[in-house]
Amino acid sequence: MGAPPIFNPVAFKISGFSIPNTVRYVSKLVEKRRIPRDWHEMRPSGCDKRQTANSCLFSIDAGAVSSDNFSIMIVEQIWVGNSLRNYNYLVACPETGEALAIDPTESAACLRMAKDKGWTIRHVLNTHEHHDHVSGNDAVCAATGATLIAHQTAQIPGVDRRVGAGDVIRVGRHELECLDTPGHTMSCLCVLAHGDESAIFTGDVLFNAGIGNCHGGDPGIAYETISTRLRTLPDDTRVYPGHDYLNRNLEFTLDREPDNQVARDLLKQYEAQDPTLLISTLGLEKSINTFLRLDSPAIIERLSASKDSLTEKEVFLALRRARDSW
Ligand SMILES: [Zn+2]
Repeated sequence: MGAPPIFNPVAFKISGFSIPNTVRYVSKLVEKRRIPRDWHEMRPSGCDKRQTANSCLFSIDAGAVSSDNFSIMIVEQIWVGNSLRNYNYLVACPETGEALAIDPTESAACLRMAKDKGWTIRHVLNTHEHHDHVSGNDAVCAATGATLIAHQTAQIPGVDRRVGAGDVIRVGRHELECLDTPGHTMSCLCVLAHGDESAIFTGDVLFNAGIGNCHGGDPGIAYETISTRLRTLPDDTRVYPGHDYLNRNLEFTLDREPDNQVARDLLKQYEAQDPTLLISTLGLEKSINTFLRLDSPAIIERLSASKDSLTEKEVFLALRRARDSW
């Protein structure tokens, strides 16, 4: 391969990606010197997450930027807009056009997005067995011939491949590692993409600024899962949860920790916003998610306890109980 091509800015317009992906894609192109930094910086309207794709100047054609030294995993978050506030996801390899659908309950929207982008859904993954995560399986599998993947013990009909800790799901050139993450139910999976695009799909285990309930699971086991398998991941890992409960969870954080300025600022910023605007990271979660802040003096004090009287696990369990009745 010769020198990577420099794109002609005039011919460059954004299409086919959501805004968060576009921002990452453009940054990658600059980083790889595929477009000149000064041109990127002088873009007239910028490329902010809040703008629509049409308002940006340049276009990224997934085929054109693909090469052996440039590979990006595309994540499209699909906002269902139902009362349970579910997110569905398509994870795609733009080089091969293969895609994975995660909990595609809004099956028509997932199929339409895949078609629009020229992707083929090869696999459907369920993070767990709850109805609001599996109800689109039949429609997506029937339309695409996709393989259905789920946890070893999940009670889900029609599973083709059962996975557990350490198993790998391939999406074109990309790999996702399965993590066994019980607690919300006893058969919950999270899937983790490694590398400089590291991201975790957490289902109902971890939400933005909160965690899933444990009515069908076990809060003590949720503590183990979150403390040993999720909290330990790198801070720049992007977090893609199964639901949007951001505002309500931030309110709980502020109820527990009124001086948490990061949570307060974020609530103000996202209160009336489109729920697909914030893609948080584990680092951000450690600042705003009460269940990742078990050693916070304010949180412990609010539980009417003195600093050393509760273990981290006891703090977690007390917070889970408080959130259940809040
Ligand atoms: Zn659930």
